[in-house]
Amino acid sequence: MIPASASSVADSSGAIAPSEKILEIDQVTVSFDGFLALNNLNFSLAPGELRVIIGPNGAGKTTFLDTITGKVQPTQGTVRFKGRNLRGLPEHKISRMGIGRKFQTPRVYLNLTVRENLELSCFPHKGVFSSLFSPRTPAERRTVPALLETVGLTSRAELPAALLSHGEKQRLEIGMLVAQSPDLLLVDEPAAGLTDEETYALGELLQSLADSHALVVIEHDMEFVRQIARQVTVLHQGSVLFEGSMDDVQSDPRVIEVYLGNAPSITEEQMRVLRVVAAVAWCDGSLAPAEEAIALERLSGLFATDSLQKDELKGELRDYLMTHVSLESAIAALGDRDLREQVLALSYEVVRASDPRDRDASINEREAYTYGQLIELLGLPPEVVQRIEGEVDARLMK
Ligand code: ADP
Ligand code: MG
Repeated sequence: MIPASASSVADSSGAIAPSEKILEIDQVTVSFDGFLALNNLNFSLAPGELRVIIGPNGAGKTTFLDTITGKVQPTQGTVRFKGRNLRGLPEHKISRMGIGRKFQTPRVYLNLTVRENLELSCFPHKGVFSSLFSPRTPAERRTVPALLETVGLTSRAELPAALLSHGEKQRLEIGMLVAQSPDLLLVDEPAAGLTDEETYALGELLQSLADSHALVVIEHDMEFVRQIARQVTVLHQGSVLFEGSMDDVQSDPRVIEVYLGNAPSITEEQMRVLRVVAAVAWCDGSLAPAEEAIALERLSGLFATDSLQKDELKGELRDYLMTHVSLESAIAALGDRDLREQVLALSYEVVRASDPRDRDASINEREAYTYGQLIELLGLPPEVVQRIEGEVDARLMK
């Protein structure tokens, strides 16, 4: 999907047409003395798109950014930005074409105020002194306050950057990059070292920059990835292993294998059922031991072919239960009617599981709400819901 803002870059000044990709990476290989850090990598990005890249350590994520900024030249293949082949161009030229890169440690002037840092980035050609002391045109005056607003630092404008928190410094540096109106922003592991609140604020900022900028964000923190991700690209051994939504990524057997070291012994369909049960069980923010036990018991019972395998499976399923996605997306990923009925029975039992002796009291408000949502999202007829609940109740009475 091309956002409407993309049309603003379509003109005769060498900018790209709205239907084109802003970034196209075609069969790029990077060899370091024969070691392939990138191996026949293909990738493309639309204007205004926000893409998150994940992958285990050594997958080639940083090298991938290095080939875009010109820090590393591909051994083979081409990188095109706004239709132009970047081969042989030096880093500063590529940067001036409209690519901004945010490194892991903030690069701000600590002894200058937040406002001064932004002013320098807006008018770098004027040099430190003239940009600080020369009068502004009205258009220029509008820019810095708008940037302060965007990065949420208006109330900090007159503070020296040295007094900012780590998260605020990260946002300031992003503001300094945005000041240069790049078409593409590259951000390498921005959440590292941030508190939860800072991470969340950063996620909001990056999301607000999408549409008016294309963004590539490399990240390890899966909570953060889930917050901002639209499309996710998984790199592994220098190639694209998988591309899709976060939910697809988390259900894909190859991705799970790369992250957890072993291929899942359940099918992808079974993984989707598990994801819904996990979403229901986690809805109140915790996975109670009773909920975990019943989820593992029922899921392993469903998926295993014999009792020996059932016990083996429990340990593996526990790992998968620890990561969870939103209920909406988990259900959207489900396929046919049979699966939906299976999921309803399992979820009903899990929400009743917190205290098996007092079944009515065991459903807390949050769980009741989520369960209601689940029924709505599953779209099963009321009589089917009643029948399934009745079957579970009858089993629990025994
Ligand atoms: P990631 O960012 O995904 O952790 P990198 O792109 O940093 O991965 O590295 C990919 C692989 O390439 C790693 O095995 C790394 O050791 C190797 N590598 C990266 N840069 C160089 C270099 N300049 N010389 C030799 N090997 C390198
Ligand atoms: Mg890296």
